[in-house]
Amino acid sequence: MPLPVESQPLVIFGPPSLDYDFGPEHPLSPRRFGPGIELLRAVGAGRFEPPPRATVEELRRVHRAEYISTVQMLSEYPDAAAMAGFSRWGDDPPFYGMHEAAATVGGGSLAAMDAVLLGRALHAFHPGGGLHHAMPTYASGFCIYNDVALAIARARDAGHRVLYVDLDVHHGDGVEAIFRRDTQVLTISFHETGLSLFPGTGFVEDCREPETEGTAVNVPLQPGTSDSSWLEAVELVVPPLARAFRPTILVSQHGSDSHALDPLAHLRLTTGAMSEAARMLDRLAHEHTGGRWLATGGGGYDVYRVVPRAWSLVWLAQAHADVPPRTPDDWRERWAPDAARHDQSPPPDEMLDPAGLVSPESRQVSERNLETARAALDCSLRALRELTPG
Ligand SMILES: [Zn+2]
Repeated sequence: MPLPVESQPLVIFGPPSLDYDFGPEHPLSPRRFGPGIELLRAVGAGRFEPPPRATVEELRRVHRAEYISTVQMLSEYPDAAAMAGFSRWGDDPPFYGMHEAAATVGGGSLAAMDAVLLGRALHAFHPGGGLHHAMPTYASGFCIYNDVALAIARARDAGHRVLYVDLDVHHGDGVEAIFRRDTQVLTISFHETGLSLFPGTGFVEDCREPETEGTAVNVPLQPGTSDSSWLEAVELVVPPLARAFRPTILVSQHGSDSHALDPLAHLRLTTGAMSEAARMLDRLAHEHTGGRWLATGGGGYDVYRVVPRAWSLVWLAQAHADVPPRTPDDWRERWAPDAARHDQSPPPDEMLDPAGLVSPESRQVSERNLETARAALDCSLRALRELTPG
């Protein structure tokens, strides 16, 4: 039985979501919204609201005024000299209207958080959000304004204790940096080790740094990691930390660039592990936060084969609905020519990838990852106990 629309998870999406666009050659493409939103509708999503634009005052909660002015200036004059993380040939090339576009991504996560805080939605999902690298004073890694941090700050201002779980293949460095001194926010990031991937940070030892002790947990994983040890690491670390931290709201980032088919990184997950992780987060939300849960998208650069299914699996977990075995025929037929036109592989038949998609990871990789996960867990449990004696 499909849920009545008013009790469905809220999805934030509308035409302005497409405006966040660094240009046709950039990997973070708004083309993903076409097949992504259509697959969401096909699996049952029916409750959509467009993202409003965050005000400058709202942005100032996590960004410095000078940085926002710089973004506004470059947004009008994108050909100006490189500054504040922006450069024409870098990861964040300025584009006309980018202040408005990025403030709208921020506003989308704020609106999703407001819906959860006001009880209008138990779970909310902002697929265009998850810009976790943006820093208070500079743009980084395709991220201009940090919508995730804006949403967490909104929850903090309402008196909540926030557990943030970042599943993107890249370290959630911006969110971590913004809340590293806030003992009421615990950030946990699973990512490919910074030794082989941008942004080059996020190590287990950060747990013992005075500033991040008890506020930041990092689980860097080996290149070649596949479902088994990734999921084992997530399941080993997150539930005990949720019990120890006792959050009142959950925020998660579901970048799908950890997938084996993603062109920009070196983990080898399938959609199976992504789905399991989302379902685990749903259980934790019901167990610890009265169900309050905001999920965002994130990275993900295989527009037809990976991103749409990854988004749908997050929504299905939030809707407490089973995963259909197959993607709809008409959805595949609709998007296969579009994929071909962009030299991309066509959308796949199955929601969950077949077991043979990736060969099993090596024993060395599994062992390294589990050692890392155990060390991260031990260190942060100790730190949390010191922060909340008794
Ligand atoms: Zn739920």
